[in-house]
Amino acid sequence: PTLTTRLYSEEDPVVILTSATVKQTLVNSSTAWLVQFYSSWCGHCIQYSPTWKALAGDVKDWEHAIRIGVLDCAQENNFDICKEFGIHFYPTFRVCASQDFNHVGADRELQTVRQLMVNFLQNHTRQDWPVSCPPLEPYSSADILPLIGQKSNQYTAVIVENEDSYVGREVILDLMMYQGLTVKRALSSERSLTEKLGINSFPSAYLLHPNGTHAILHVQKRLRFFFSSFLKLLLGVHRKLSTSGAPQELPVSLIFSRSKVYMADLESGLHYLLRVELATHQTLEGEELKTFKDFVTVVAKLFPGRQSVVKLLETLLEWLVSLPLEKIPFDAILDLVNNRMRISGMFLSDQLQWVGCQGSRVGLRGYPCSLWTLFHVLTVQAASRPDALANTGLEENPKAVLQTMRKYIVNFFGCQECGKHFEEMAVASLPQVKSVDQAVLWLWRKHNQVNGRLAGTMSEDPHFPKTQWPSPDLCPICHEEQDGIHVWNEDKVLMFLKQHYGAANISPKHMY
Ligand code: FAD
Repeated sequence: PTLTTRLYSEEDPVVILTSATVKQTLVNSSTAWLVQFYSSWCGHCIQYSPTWKALAGDVKDWEHAIRIGVLDCAQENNFDICKEFGIHFYPTFRVCASQDFNHVGADRELQTVRQLMVNFLQNHTRQDWPVSCPPLEPYSSADILPLIGQKSNQYTAVIVENEDSYVGREVILDLMMYQGLTVKRALSSERSLTEKLGINSFPSAYLLHPNGTHAILHVQKRLRFFFSSFLKLLLGVHRKLSTSGAPQELPVSLIFSRSKVYMADLESGLHYLLRVELATHQTLEGEELKTFKDFVTVVAKLFPGRQSVVKLLETLLEWLVSLPLEKIPFDAILDLVNNRMRISGMFLSDQLQWVGCQGSRVGLRGYPCSLWTLFHVLTVQAASRPDALANTGLEENPKAVLQTMRKYIVNFFGCQECGKHFEEMAVASLPQVKSVDQAVLWLWRKHNQVNGRLAGTMSEDPHFPKTQWPSPDLCPICHEEQDGIHVWNEDKVLMFLKQHYGAANISPKHMY
């Protein structure tokens, strides 16, 4: 059953504690905890919940060292436990280490709470706890200098910073779930080190490569998020798997660029969708038939593909519209697509060829990746070509692509859990979309929400870790920092999405 309180749900990156779980969870836990005891009727708590969720998302990668929890003292079955914990006011914050419970002051800015977490961890790591927490103390010149020029089996990044900076410790914690790299910090007062490395502005990061070469790390902005994103994307750096062992080498792979969209992925996705996913439905009728027709309308009008494919989609649409049937056997559709249209040169490849969507093994990436990509391309097309949907009945609707996607996912997408989650997100925020530009941004935002939820889970390909996208290397101007918190510049994100998913950025490379 879904554990939902009024302010927090399982979709949020916080752990929802209850009287039944709180003690066994906190006491003797292998990680520290920061818990907010709140009351769902308290106005402050309601206003504060977005900040708390943002904090939990911001430090999600620290969860093997410290976790974020919530407990609703307004729920009747929690009355006793809140009394036992001596909670008099809401919200009350407690940071817990094993048996040790400390109050946290009233200052509740996200950045200050995050710094408090860092200080708390640093104090405890002096006693070697939590065991998984990496060392947060600064290293001296004498520790670092001998490493320079040495070969190693992994990267070492050294953040050199002023004493009052938190960047080094935050980057260390951001990377704690990753292997192939160690992050250390050193203080700017370590003269022999800064001179040797040629660093004179702080914070800076210096990267020692496994092959013994070394260089200053160039990021567009010297901020936590930029350093962390850069390091996570280094070749050979992977999120640690829950099962032990290093990820396998990427099998022989096609060379591709993360800054391109590949037609091979889009066509392979369409092939899979039409000939595999939909083909499990013997007949289409009612809501399913309507969904299929809308889907074909949207792709026929908006897909910026090869002429043979667009023609096939348009002919399929004409055929569907001309049929007065309330029920269509799917075999008839397959016959049209596979045999009858082929004769007239309309042709959708029946090969699966993943390029930007290739995974490191079967079962990872591939089709779901292509489906996201397809719908991002379609939302961008709808925003760039306002007349494309003329005379389809969808022309007045800025949400036409998203609603079609929503219905497709619910009715046909093989991953039912995914459909359920997507539907929850759509119910909660799709009504607020009022323009084609907002539709582009909505899909980007929701996709990032899914990435956040799936980071570190089984469906993550260790060679393609799920990050908040676009990373700073793809779009530096999309990222900003306000009061120490990463924020998106959404105007710039929109521009980037329109460029990235625009027709001119779709590469025909590796097409059959
Ligand atoms: P994907 O997430 O598939 O992304 C594909 C490409 O899109 C990336 O390589 C990147 O280039 C780009 N991209 C990444 N983020 C964004 C963004 N925010 N905006 C624009 N472009 C972006 N799997 C589950 O296990 N549980 C689920 O609940 C779930 N829900 C899903 C819901 C939908 C609607 C879909 C289509 C898929 C869902 N999946 C779910 C599958 C999952 O999201 C991934 O598609 C899959 O794990 C493959 O991941 P990937 O690494 O190829 O990247």
